[in-house]
Amino acid sequence: MQTVLVTGGAGYIGSHACKALAAAGYRPVTFDSLVTGNRWAVRWGPFEHGDIRDVGHLAGVLQAYKPVAIMHFAASAYVGESAVDPEKYYSNNVAGTLSLLRAARQCGVGRIVFSSTCATYGEPQQVPVPETAAQVPINPYGRSKLMIEQMLQDYVRAYGMGTTALRYFNAAGADPEGEIGEEHAPETHLIPLVLQSILQPEKPVTIFGIDYPTPDGTCVRDYTHVTDIAAAHVLALQTCNGGLGFRAFNLGTGAGHSVRQIIETAERVSGKKVHASFGPRRAGDPAALVADPTMARRELGWQPRRSELHEIIGTAWAWITRP
Ligand code: NAD
Ligand code: UDP
Repeated sequence: MQTVLVTGGAGYIGSHACKALAAAGYRPVTFDSLVTGNRWAVRWGPFEHGDIRDVGHLAGVLQAYKPVAIMHFAASAYVGESAVDPEKYYSNNVAGTLSLLRAARQCGVGRIVFSSTCATYGEPQQVPVPETAAQVPINPYGRSKLMIEQMLQDYVRAYGMGTTALRYFNAAGADPEGEIGEEHAPETHLIPLVLQSILQPEKPVTIFGIDYPTPDGTCVRDYTHVTDIAAAHVLALQTCNGGLGFRAFNLGTGAGHSVRQIIETAERVSGKKVHASFGPRRAGDPAALVADPTMARRELGWQPRRSELHEIIGTAWAWITRP
């Protein structure tokens, strides 16, 4: 059985990737500091508690488990926080990845699948956004992820590694079998906040901006089921080798949904009222971000299977209301 080191495997997307890896016959080894992740989410394979900025610890873990590849999810990932505390983002994301790359080289691990983001595109000039769109991030989070993509490209050229950057749009939903789901403290993502407002009417969700140049005035995003994103990682891993150099793929459905549409669907799925209030725009939010996922479909054979909005919200609702 081949082993894959999963940094951030105790987090939301990383834990779903561990489940997908196990189902595909790999042994995932989670390396996670638990700064935002959950120990209970590590259910498939061993857990190593550590910080990716600790090269010695990472190298020891790589030597002990001898993984064939690394899936690199560990990061700080809040746009707003990155604007007020950029140092955290350059330290955790950029310096952390440098440390990971150093340990990987030391231990001869040459295949890396990296969690990138649509935030590397900034305010896109065209929607849907293809991979060839200019990457002009508008916040430190996006810049840190773009720097990592550039580091990966330099490592590929100089050291012959095989790296794949998956630029996700909005990951959402939960494991349909109810074993894992999204749990962040504090929660900042729209769908869990919308669903929480149903259960706790005293904490309404705030709609950030109703004056965007979109059909209903609220922001449009490309919500993709977390299990579809996890499946893309397995496909990327299976096709990632030194000969392919650096590759980058958008992971999205190609369809955008507004904040109001999320609220309407949540009310339909739950049969209950969402409690919402209106607030100003959130800094750093582009009006619309929708992927052109053609390349992932063509080159990875990836097809979203659970990313209809009602299924995304249905699995998230089942998770949040689990007994
Ligand atoms: P998450 O916070 O749930 O998971 C991140 C995990 O990394 C956590 O378990 C955390 O404890 C761990 N971690 C953070 N810093 C670490 C460090 N220095 N050493 C070891 N472990 C560390 O976030 P998520 O939503 O699952 O996101 C996973 C990845 O996907 C991130 O890289 C994020 O930038 C990227 N991404 C997420 C989305 C999304 O919609 N959630 C969209 C685009 C990209
Ligand atoms: N959003 C909102 N209220 C919230 C959280 C998010 O209106 O409490 C909006 C946000 O402006 C964005 C969309 O919902 O347009 C998705 O935001 P989220 O934080 O879930 O993901 P992001 O796009 O920042 O990765």
